[in-house]
Amino acid sequence: MSEQKTTKIRRIISAIRDNDRFMVATHVHPDGDALGSLLGMKFILERLGKKADIFAQDKIPPEFDFLPQTRAIRSKPIQSAKYDAAILVDCGDFERVGDELAGFISGLPFIINIDHHVPNRPFGNISWVEQSACSTCEMLFDLCMSLSLAPDANLSSVLYTGLITDTGSFRFSNTNRRVLEVAAILVEMGADPVYLATQIYDSATPEKLKLLAQVLGTLQFHTGARIVTAELSRSMLANSSSSYMDSEGFINHLRSVKSADLAILFREVNDGLIHVSMRSREGIDVAKLAQRYGGGGHKQAAACRISGTLHAVRSMFVGEAVSYMN
Ligand code: AMP
Ligand code: MN
Ligand code: MN
Repeated sequence: MSEQKTTKIRRIISAIRDNDRFMVATHVHPDGDALGSLLGMKFILERLGKKADIFAQDKIPPEFDFLPQTRAIRSKPIQSAKYDAAILVDCGDFERVGDELAGFISGLPFIINIDHHVPNRPFGNISWVEQSACSTCEMLFDLCMSLSLAPDANLSSVLYTGLITDTGSFRFSNTNRRVLEVAAILVEMGADPVYLATQIYDSATPEKLKLLAQVLGTLQFHTGARIVTAELSRSMLANSSSSYMDSEGFINHLRSVKSADLAILFREVNDGLIHVSMRSREGIDVAKLAQRYGGGGHKQAAACRISGTLHAVRSMFVGEAVSYMN
């Protein structure tokens, strides 16, 4: 372990030991790593005899409902609550936690940031950012090891969830020997890989599949099929009686094309706001491209939000992506 990493972990451990009441929060539109690290941090704090309230501004996607204690997750701050410190997990930027939670957290005496994104602006009294970690859950596993805390079945399950979702089931470029070793230990400690994968990946509704069919109907290939794009409109959601959340994993279908170096999915969040998701092969840094539009993420998986109609944003951004690739 690098000296810098050891120092960061040591500082976080003493901040935890010195305080009692924690507020833990994660990013808007939480994914498996966001929820795994949110619940994981709560379980770790409770094992250390601390109090922890957990927060995620947006709804929990249904495929993660089965995770232990998701009912404890609140969407709004408790205005009367007194916390000694906040811990933000899986948030590349402070603002990623959402307006209302950010407003409340900025009034707290101490903020700890635990994350693995390409940072835009560093934040927090302690900021532990590990870009080489596959997930925030992998970092929490390191924290457990430094605390000599053996994960129980619940803690192992939530951390394993972050590992599989952020590595695309151990397929993306952030997968390495270390990640597989951590996964093996978590399985040994009680995470059930078949149960967890079934809950997360094989729990789609018929409506979700119908929505995917519509999105794939908008496929376009650019620059000799090196760029693959598709879109999701609000009317598709209405046609298939599905929700925006159902489309979380859709971009992976675009990146599965052999020739695709860059996959882009344009989703209409609401009238006039488009969420642009990107996935790339090694050598193409999409975090940089997303940062041009105030977004961010990782080199191989990033996103940003752009105002405009679906049509206008798609044609403008494809032009930008084509020149970015050249
Ligand atoms: P997505 O395509 O929405 O799954 O997001 C891909 C990656 O980019 C994830 O690691 C997110 O944490 C990050 N990300 C998504 N939306 C934003 C945003 N608006 N600003 C900064 N980072 C984002
Ligand atoms: Mn995340
Ligand atoms: Mn993550």
